[in-house]
Amino acid sequence: MSKPKRLVLILGDQLDRQSPALRDFDFQNDEVIMIESIPEAQVVWSHKAKIALFLSAMRHFSEELKADGYPVHYVQESKLSIVDSLKEILLEKGIRHLVCIEPGEWRLKLAIEKLAKDSKVQLDMREDSHFYCSHQEFRDWAANKKELRLEFFYRLMRKTHNILLDKDGNPEGGQWNFDQDNRKPYPKSGPGIIETPILFEPDAITQEVLQFVQSHYSGYPGSLGHFRWPVTRDEALEALQYFVDYRLRNFGIYQDAMWTDTPYGWHSILSSSLNLKLLNPREVISAVLDAWKKYSLDLSTIEGFIRQILGWREFVRGMYYLDMPKMATDNFYDHQRALPDWYWTGKTKMRCMQDAVGQTLKYGYAHHIQRLMVTGNFALLAEILPSAVCDWYLAVYVDAIEWVELPNTAGMALFANGGRFTSKPYIASGAYIKRMSNYCGGCQYKSDVRFGENACPVTTLYWNFLIKHRQQFDSNPRTRLMTANLKKISDDDQAAIVQHAQQVLNNLNNL
Ligand SMILES: Cc1cc2nc3c(=O)[nH]c(=O)nc-3n(C[C@H](O)[C@H](O)[C@H](O)COP(=O)(O)OP(=O)(O)OC[C@H]3O[C@@H](n4cnc5c(N)ncnc54)[C@H](O)[C@@H]3O)c2cc1C
Ligand code: SF4
Repeated sequence: MSKPKRLVLILGDQLDRQSPALRDFDFQNDEVIMIESIPEAQVVWSHKAKIALFLSAMRHFSEELKADGYPVHYVQESKLSIVDSLKEILLEKGIRHLVCIEPGEWRLKLAIEKLAKDSKVQLDMREDSHFYCSHQEFRDWAANKKELRLEFFYRLMRKTHNILLDKDGNPEGGQWNFDQDNRKPYPKSGPGIIETPILFEPDAITQEVLQFVQSHYSGYPGSLGHFRWPVTRDEALEALQYFVDYRLRNFGIYQDAMWTDTPYGWHSILSSSLNLKLLNPREVISAVLDAWKKYSLDLSTIEGFIRQILGWREFVRGMYYLDMPKMATDNFYDHQRALPDWYWTGKTKMRCMQDAVGQTLKYGYAHHIQRLMVTGNFALLAEILPSAVCDWYLAVYVDAIEWVELPNTAGMALFANGGRFTSKPYIASGAYIKRMSNYCGGCQYKSDVRFGENACPVTTLYWNFLIKHRQQFDSNPRTRLMTANLKKISDDDQAAIVQHAQQVLNNLNNL
């Protein structure tokens, strides 16, 4: 008797040929299903480049699977949601067995589980082996811990996977973390010559997708004019090799630095390829370790980069599955303000926001410090509703998938979960932005003016936030120094700051 036919669902961010979903694929009986869903891109209002990247990468992946003999049912431009489209196909083909990898979005995971239950389809939802740390390992690590901190998780990952350890099992260079060496601004004269990242000319498939997105999503944010993202595994591997050969050397030292019209700095720009699963984190770490020896690079750069992949990326994923669905609605400070319109246009007089939002709309990319300490910092200080901020981040970055976007935005940038995995809110005044960039030089606001004419809105809101939450900051040894500085500001000036901050908060759209 022949085996019953199974459908193997591959989602747009699961483009991994080693996927556990394909592990036991039966070429005689099974069929791969891939669905392009127009409504999925409308769940949040996405950047055109993000939609184009997903569609192009999916179409390339399905062609590769077909070339290798996989039967692929590819649904192009469906007007139904993924789940409704899937339901229709399951019914049409009379299929009782669905295989898939756990989606990186809670909503979709629940919807697929419900569909299977309602339709009495046997669901085989497998965990994604792309990651170093399984859900169970993360749960075991987190169990009974009073504080969930990246540093201790990261050390465990280093030990478990024997990465950057000396022969006695101690950390290379005698310390686990070289973060202090990785916080330099560019020299006053500017960043100098930075090796341009490798960019990929759109091929015929991508061009067709770009035209489709331009015509069907014309009102959506962002531009397609600079679309040069890797859309295949071969391109992603090329981008990785280029990064380790030419750009890794200065990654560490300038990791936090910002400069106008320098959208990528020395960053890897590998997040979209990693998150679509075109690249495996193990091969990224292995390429970085090889380059360390080959080019005698600084350990601080190598450790700093590996911490992002083996530490933060694994950690936030663990936190997402541990804390959902609560993570999506947490609002520790009960912030309720609307997101200023200029987050969608870049039209603000604040140079720092202009640059960070402007490059985001142009490329679908901003680096970590721009996301955390420019747009994220402002959103927290301006008391914006966390879910509105999260929707923005999910919409505008080509690498944004909820499992990684939400913990970074709600947890790290907005402190919306009250410090569940961060020891303090990440807030800074204009002084930090001035130190780490050249933005303030050309700005009509003055970073060191706290209130009154030309006061920097970031600085005003920073002091206002400290005044408002003084008690909370005083009670935490990690933030006590920040409120100690408040004592140097006279009571009259503090009252003027609070009054000016009110005007700023009431006028967020016109800054
Ligand atoms: C508010 C906010 C939202 C973010 N949203 C996303 C998102 O939607 N998708 C996303 O991939 N990253 C997100 N990040 C993390 C980080 O900013 C991006 O991974 C990084 O900027 C991508 O650029 P890159 O590939 O050049 O990274 P690099 O700076 O070169 O770092 C190397 C790699 O490390 C990983 N990495 C670095 N930092 C983090 C982190 N904090 N969490 C998880 N992985 C990390 C990424 O895979 C990245 O490709 C967010 C950070 C903040 C503060
Ligand atoms: S002065 Fe303030 S608003 Fe202007 S660029 Fe600097 S930090 Fe941004």
